[in-house]
Amino acid sequence: MLQKWKQKIQGLHYIGVLLCMCMFVVCTSMQVKANTQLQAVYSAFFAAEGAKAGWSAEIQDNTKLYVQGNYPSALRIGLVGQPEGMSGTVVYQVNLSGSGWLPAVENRAETGAADLGQQPLESVKVWLNGDLANHYDIYYRVLQNGAFTPWVKNGEEAGSHGVGTRIEGLVFAIRGKDAGEPGESLELPADKPAASQGTGTRNIDPSKPMIALTYDDGPHTAHTSRILDILDAHGAKATFYVIGQEVGKGANLLQRMAAGGHEIGNHTWAHQNLTKQSAAQRKEALHMTAAAIEQAAGIRPTTMRAPYGALDEKVKESIGSLGYPSILWSIDTLDWKHKNAQTTVDTVLSQVKDGDIILMHDVYGATADASAVLIPELIGRGYQLVTVSEMASLRGGMQAGSNYRRFR
Ligand code: ZN
Repeated sequence: MLQKWKQKIQGLHYIGVLLCMCMFVVCTSMQVKANTQLQAVYSAFFAAEGAKAGWSAEIQDNTKLYVQGNYPSALRIGLVGQPEGMSGTVVYQVNLSGSGWLPAVENRAETGAADLGQQPLESVKVWLNGDLANHYDIYYRVLQNGAFTPWVKNGEEAGSHGVGTRIEGLVFAIRGKDAGEPGESLELPADKPAASQGTGTRNIDPSKPMIALTYDDGPHTAHTSRILDILDAHGAKATFYVIGQEVGKGANLLQRMAAGGHEIGNHTWAHQNLTKQSAAQRKEALHMTAAAIEQAAGIRPTTMRAPYGALDEKVKESIGSLGYPSILWSIDTLDWKHKNAQTTVDTVLSQVKDGDIILMHDVYGATADASAVLIPELIGRGYQLVTVSEMASLRGGMQAGSNYRRFR
């Protein structure tokens, strides 16, 4: 009898060991998934030889940030995709010409001399802390003396200070612990700084009125292409909230948007009402779309718009955990409903104000017709047509999980 019980207990013990092993495998594979998602995002304040200066948009992991003939004088670095429950943040320190090392700051805080003007950065150190430091390495290098330095990581100094050379560009990238140096970084066109997601470095005058035109639900082969023609003809920028499942057939249009300095935002994979989905489904709808955009245009979206503007606390929490600010609008043209160009034009012109975000859809011919009238008219009235991220970066910035309807 006793012998029998002993055998039973031993059997249970083996089952216990097996269970532990299974859990270990599950946890390990979850960790691998998390590793692929953590990314560095960053923006720099470009001082200017001429009169214009400003913050670039927040750009993506392993994307080179520089502006030909210009140099950064302040820096912000943040993280997106931090695994839930994993402690830590990104910490960074700059060596500012004339001041030496400034105190370390973390998690998108500004350091440098954005308010002082012309002092360049000479070198930088960046590291992760908390649990993050046990699971990831942060790599970085700087453009100095006309070439990018070799990668350094985890608090090492990139660049040389005290020798009269300034940093002209930067790139940051996060890799799983001991995964080695990142591959060749994505490069932004030198004459279109942070072209993908907006920047204060192009000729935007922060003291003059500006608005953000936004086009949802595309790309659409005919209408999006025509709207891009109109925007480009007037040197205007817009933001396109694209649907992930439409991206494949419109990849050339997304490339055009990115190259033309327009912003591409995330409008979910299949135009799902996010309030009716689980947290996992929401994550998937946004992740898949971001991946499709990146594959098509080489950049990742940094803002999102919820289909139907449908948001609740849980949705906001999901959006925030994925690192997105949520963008709504202050003027709804209802172009999808009336499909009448004149009505769209009248709706906008009768109420437009500085800082407005205007909602349209690039999947209707009538909206393209309206754009042909609106864009030159708005410019004629003194509005700068900028992307959402450009306007935000000049007016207080954005926080993940927060909701924005305008930037006054
Ligand atoms: Zn939509």
